[in-house]
Amino acid sequence: MATDTAINPPSVNRDAPARPVAARPAVDAPLEPTEALLAELAEANDRLETATPDEIVKYAVDRFFPKLTMGTAFGPEGCLILAMLSKVNKDVYVFNLETGYQFKETHELRDRIAEKYGITVAYHSHEQTVEEYEKANGGPLYKTNPDQCCFDRKIKVLRQSVVGMHAWFTGIRRNQSPDRAQAPIVGWDAKFNLVKINPLANATKADVWKRIVDEDVPYNELHDQGYPSIGCAPCTRAVLLGEDERAGRWSGTAKTECGLHALGDNK
Ligand code: SF4
Repeated sequence: MATDTAINPPSVNRDAPARPVAARPAVDAPLEPTEALLAELAEANDRLETATPDEIVKYAVDRFFPKLTMGTAFGPEGCLILAMLSKVNKDVYVFNLETGYQFKETHELRDRIAEKYGITVAYHSHEQTVEEYEKANGGPLYKTNPDQCCFDRKIKVLRQSVVGMHAWFTGIRRNQSPDRAQAPIVGWDAKFNLVKINPLANATKADVWKRIVDEDVPYNELHDQGYPSIGCAPCTRAVLLGEDERAGRWSGTAKTECGLHALGDNK
């Protein structure tokens, strides 16, 4: 259970975006992992192993647009992929799981990205507003049952968000964790029945931040205020010197992930 010291007041800016959201493609049959498709992906993966992130982004757009998407929480990797996408195709449909509890700085970043790159990330939200949801649950579930809150306001929404899509980008980097060390550049994502493209698989955190600085890519200003990992406001705090990067997420609880990475195990 979250302690009161871990709670920040939600502060949400729901102003209209600076530019319209890209059109979402019509829903048709999902992609099937046929032998031919898997062979194609294996060939692309081998070929792109030494490609630059920009070349990988271009491959994905050429091969899968308009059935190509990305979900982003506006972390550094997501912002960099948006910057790369803006040079190739601004009409790729990108979405954010807008739980209703995100920081105002995150919403402002969405607007800054729209302004700079002409890509407005679509907000995808639970059908109930925060007010309705809290009323239905006798108060904010992030205090009493954050797993359920993440499941309702992130995971369920994510599952709906990718219906009809064939491929998606992620910001996974291989050196983020042992789990991610084997991430392909291009591969089949069996949890979602999508082709997964990881343009930054070979990048380090330093590579990502160097490009952000060199190319003046907008990033969440909370990173400059001691927040290395940014999620929802009530469940994120700044970290102290020497603490793990993710120590500020669900601080004071046993929870460490929202469940997106273990989706197959969720109800
Ligand atoms: Fe709810 Fe916190 Fe999960 Fe956001 S991170 S969905 S507020 S429990």
